[in-house]
Amino acid sequence: MTDRYAVIGNPIGFTKSPFIHGTFAKVTGQDLSYEAIEGPIGGFAARVDQFRAEGAKGLNITAPFKLDAFAYANELSESARRAGAANCLKFEGDRVIAENFDGIGLLRDITLNLGVKVAGRRVLMLGAGGAARGALLPFLRQDPSELVLVNRMLSKAVALAEEFAGRGPLIVSGYAELADLAEGYDVVINATSASLRGEMPPLPGNVFRGAELAYELAYGKGLTPFLQAARAEGVAKLADGVGMLVEQAAEAFSWWRGVRPSTAQVIAELTVPLS
Ligand code: NDP
Repeated sequence: MTDRYAVIGNPIGFTKSPFIHGTFAKVTGQDLSYEAIEGPIGGFAARVDQFRAEGAKGLNITAPFKLDAFAYANELSESARRAGAANCLKFEGDRVIAENFDGIGLLRDITLNLGVKVAGRRVLMLGAGGAARGALLPFLRQDPSELVLVNRMLSKAVALAEEFAGRGPLIVSGYAELADLAEGYDVVINATSASLRGEMPPLPGNVFRGAELAYELAYGKGLTPFLQAARAEGVAKLADGVGMLVEQAAEAFSWWRGVRPSTAQVIAELTVPLS
């Protein structure tokens, strides 16, 4: 019987996940179907109960349900527990196992697809929401020389630093104090949601100087104010989050099916030039 999977979110109309997983299934010869479900706000659990009762094997989760999915699971991977959110579920009988592949997807896109090293480098991460939180451990495990975490609401970044104490060289800063920290970041990552509203995090002008890569987690937004600022400061490599999206999907696919699909062709098909 064909195994069923889906992505759930609200809204869900523009999701690329059915295309990505459909392509992975085709190239790996896996017999599965993959649909998009518009989950009712406040009705996540009932909708997932129904999907499981229909025999579903797994689910990807996008905004705004990552916390609901975390609460729904009865087993958590370390990355889901660290992120405090789930972007992927696997159903095995009564077991509902939660994973979070966003952080590893971001790391793989930067290191493997874009060829930018994190080990021994200075990384500046903007934002302390779900995406930044999920990325901290995979990035710290790469042994950066320093990972500076900046957030508008400083208390959120401070709480994260306490949680990840002893895991690596994590430094917390507010935006205003950032100008006083030495410049010379190698990688600057925008893990805020500012670009979704066409906004720019309040960065001092010097943070991009000498950087190899400016990475915007949002995708499909073209040259966001963050990427425009990086380009104006001479950063040569600019990327949006489409590669991260495909890489986290490949992690989910491998976890569900035990087969790792290659990602290059799907990323190429989904990439819109940043100009
Ligand atoms: P959250 O809502 O959990 O966190 C939002 C973060 O953005 C907070 O740290 C918030 O700061 C900060 N923020 C919002 N507006 C501004 C602003 N104008 N200036 C400075 N900081 C701001 O969002 P997520 O972590 O879930 O998502 C973050 C981004 O990552 C989104 O763009 C999302 O689309 C993208 N994403 C991409 C994925 C991919 O596969 N490519 C996967 C997951 C997310 P404060 O705490 O101070 O309010």
